[in-house]
Amino acid sequence: MPQDTRIPVGVLGATGMVGQQFISRLANHPWFEVTWLAASERSEGKRYHEAASWRLPAPMPADVRSLPVHACTPGKGPKVLFSALDAKAADELEHQFAAAGHIVLSNARSHRMDPLVPLLIPEINADHLGVLPEQRKVKGWSGAIVTNPNCAAVVLAMSLAPLRQFSIHAVMVTTMQAVSGAGYPGVPSLDILGNVVPFIGGEEEKMQSETQKILGSDSGRVPYPATVSAHTNRVAVLDGHTMTISVDLTSKPTIDEVVSALRDFRGRPQALELPSAPEPPIVVMAEPNRPQPRLDAGLGGGMAVAVGRIRSCPVLHAKFVAMGHNTVRGAAGAAILNAELMKAEGLL
Ligand code: NAP
Repeated sequence: MPQDTRIPVGVLGATGMVGQQFISRLANHPWFEVTWLAASERSEGKRYHEAASWRLPAPMPADVRSLPVHACTPGKGPKVLFSALDAKAADELEHQFAAAGHIVLSNARSHRMDPLVPLLIPEINADHLGVLPEQRKVKGWSGAIVTNPNCAAVVLAMSLAPLRQFSIHAVMVTTMQAVSGAGYPGVPSLDILGNVVPFIGGEEEKMQSETQKILGSDSGRVPYPATVSAHTNRVAVLDGHTMTISVDLTSKPTIDEVVSALRDFRGRPQALELPSAPEPPIVVMAEPNRPQPRLDAGLGGGMAVAVGRIRSCPVLHAKFVAMGHNTVRGAAGAAILNAELMKAEGLL
C-alpha cells in the first residue's frame, strides 16, 4: 500500500510499556500510520517525548516525538485504535470507544472473556471474528472490540494449537515470566533481583480460561475440553516469558509426530502474508539448552514462539519448553497482527 493511503490509527495508553511497543512497531508499518495518541490526565497536553519515559532500545520514532498526548475521550481520534490501557482504565473506557464507533484492538484483560468479544490469535482462530456482527447487534455498538490474549496464554495457546489434531486431554504448565510483563516501573528491584516470585495475581486463572476460549469452537463460546493447570512465576528476566509444558494427548502420537506438528504449523497470517506474520510462527529448536529468553525472544521480529526440548513425559504424554516475547507477541505485535488480519478480511 503506498505510504499516503495508510490507515490512520491511534494508540490509547501510548505512554506505557506496551504503548511504546505499539509506537515502535507501527513507525514504518506499510498499512497503518499513527496520527493520534492518548493516555491519562498525567500525560494529557504534553508532547509525546515529554510524557513518555521511553524504555525501548531503539530511539523514539521522530514523527511521534512532537505529537500531542490527548485525553482518552470516546469519539475523538481515528476509527482504528490500539489500546494499551491499564486494565482499570480499559474497564471504563474501551466499551465507550466501541459505542462511539471506534474499532478497539485491545491488550487489556477487561473484555477478553466476554462471549461476544473475539480473543484472537490469527494463526489459531481467525474464524472467531465471525462473532462481530452479533457483538454489534447485541451491544448496540457501531464500532467493535477485538482482544489479544494475556502475554503468557498466547505462548501456551500457540504451542498447543498444532497438537489439537492429537486431541489434548490435559495440560500442566509452569511459567518463568519476565519483569516487563508487569508494566513500568513494575516489580520493585529489591523483590526480583536474585529471586523468584511464585505468584502473579490472576495470571493462572487467565492462562487456564483464555487458552480454552482461544482453542474453543463457536467463536470461543464452547471452550476447548482440555483441563489446563498453570503455575505462574515472576523471574529476573527483562523480556520473554518461558514455560515448561506437559501435555496428555489422547491419540498418543510419537515424539517425532509432535515435533512435525509443531514445525509444520501455519495459519491464516502466513497464507495471507500479513506484514507482521512470522514465518514460521513456531520455531522448533533442536539444541538441548534452548529456547532462552535472552537469545530467542527476538525470533520472527518477536512474533515467533520458540519451542524446544520436545520429549516424552512419564506422567502425561509429551513435554517441552516454549518461550515468546511478552510485549511483542504477548501484546503490541499481537494486536497489530489482529488489525492486519481484519484489514485483509475487509473488516476495518
Ligand atoms: P503501563 O506501562 O502501566 O501503561 C499503562 C498506560 O495506561 C499508560 O499509557 C497510562 O498513561 C495509561 N493509563 C493509566 N490510567 C489511565 C486512565 N485512567 N486513563 C487513561 N489512560 C490511563 O502498562 P503496560 O505494561 O503497558 O500494559 C498496558 C496494558 O496491556 C495492560 O492492560 C496490561 O495488562 C496489558 N498487557 C501487558 C503486557 C506486558 O507484557 N506488559 C502484555 C499483555 C497485556 P500515563 O502514562 O499517562 O499514566
